[in-house]
Amino acid sequence: MTTEHVAAEINAWKVAQQQFDLAADRLNLDPGLRRVLREPRRELTVHFPVQMDDGSVQVFTGYRVQHNLGRGPAKGGIRFHQDVSIDEVKALAMWMTWKCAVVGIPYGGGKGGVIVDPKKLSMKELEHLSRRFFTEIEVLIGPERDIPAPDVNTTPQIMAWFMDTYSMHVGYTVPGVVTGKPISLGGSEGRNEATARGCVYTIVEAANHLGMDLTKSTVAVQGFGNAGSIAAQLIAAEGATVVAVSDSTSGIRNMSGLDIARVVNWKKEHGTVKGFPGAEDITNAEVLETECDILIPAALENQITARNAGNIKAKIVAEAANGPTTPEADEILFARGIFLIPDILCNAGGVTVSYFEWVQDLNRDHWTEDEVNAKLKTIMVKAFNEVLDQAHHHDVNMRTGAYLNAVQRVADATAMRGLYP
Ligand code: NAD
Repeated sequence: MTTEHVAAEINAWKVAQQQFDLAADRLNLDPGLRRVLREPRRELTVHFPVQMDDGSVQVFTGYRVQHNLGRGPAKGGIRFHQDVSIDEVKALAMWMTWKCAVVGIPYGGGKGGVIVDPKKLSMKELEHLSRRFFTEIEVLIGPERDIPAPDVNTTPQIMAWFMDTYSMHVGYTVPGVVTGKPISLGGSEGRNEATARGCVYTIVEAANHLGMDLTKSTVAVQGFGNAGSIAAQLIAAEGATVVAVSDSTSGIRNMSGLDIARVVNWKKEHGTVKGFPGAEDITNAEVLETECDILIPAALENQITARNAGNIKAKIVAEAANGPTTPEADEILFARGIFLIPDILCNAGGVTVSYFEWVQDLNRDHWTEDEVNAKLKTIMVKAFNEVLDQAHHHDVNMRTGAYLNAVQRVADATAMRGLYP
């Protein structure tokens, strides 16, 4: 069975609830609070028409889920992918709640998605789909209510269409309604790189903690999009050697090191990493099991499972992706002494700079990239060390450490607000 088949059989929402239960048990969470936090607050499903270039009308299905609004408005990306499901979006929304709490930014968790393979659409069709989907979910959206952002297959251009659509409806320009926008429309310096940059900050902290020299370390990266390709470039800039990368079509490997800038250009030119000169083509499963010091899953959920966790060679697994590791695999990795930086910490750089973007938009301000990166680093390093302390204190893995911090913060806010009415 391929990693894709195994991944498709695992329900991300069940995984998310299982991870929450582990933390709730350990925190001895009040049963009422536990019931509240275990379910999303709102789930919206929309079926909407789009006129295609051939004149036909197709109906697409999309979702927006708000998991918890205790600490602030909902925040979370919108994914365009053929395998999107309501359960996947629920899981991603719950993870956003914990992520915002782990790094201490004042948001709740939300997420959205449309069932579509955007690679099969023309630019015009993609624009129509984006604008109509945003219109359909606008009953939930607003700069004080729910602020979307990019995720898999959604880009700054799509954020620009979302922002324009919302602004047309209210009659004035509202940059703060989405983040991850182009810089010319109120986007933040450093947002495009933020997820990867935050991920690399946590890897540097983990390497220091474990006494590893990054300049002597090798790295494998699964997924070569926004998170993965930029993480590969930034970790190479730290002196590490990237030996394998992959995208949805294939993996490539060269144990002496890949020139990542050239791989980026190759992918731009050919639409795939496959066939990169001087590297062998390998499968995605082989990328995960490659001999390396650091593994960065940066694609989709459920990639490291009970089936392959025993074969992972890395000393550090840095989850740039959301939900790449199942709870069973977590246990196997922990027992094998592999240091895992969990998604809700590792990839929180994206939402952190989204928060900076929103703050700048609301204040009609624009920070320099150095300011953004310095503030991001302070937040990521602090959150990493808080999670590490918690993990040590309870003798648990880093995921449970992160959940203990996050769930406690959200539970405290929810309890303090009390039950309405
Ligand atoms: P993207 O669309 O830019 O890139 C996704 C990459 O994954 C592509 O290279 C694609 O080819 C590859 N891919 C898809 N299926 C694959 C498979 N089965 N095996 C190997 N590669 C596969 O998306 P992204 O924004 O980089 O998101 C990647 C992950 O990072 C997701 O889990 C997302 O939720 C997470 N994330 C993204 C952000 C962000 O700001 N973009 C923030 C936090 C977390």
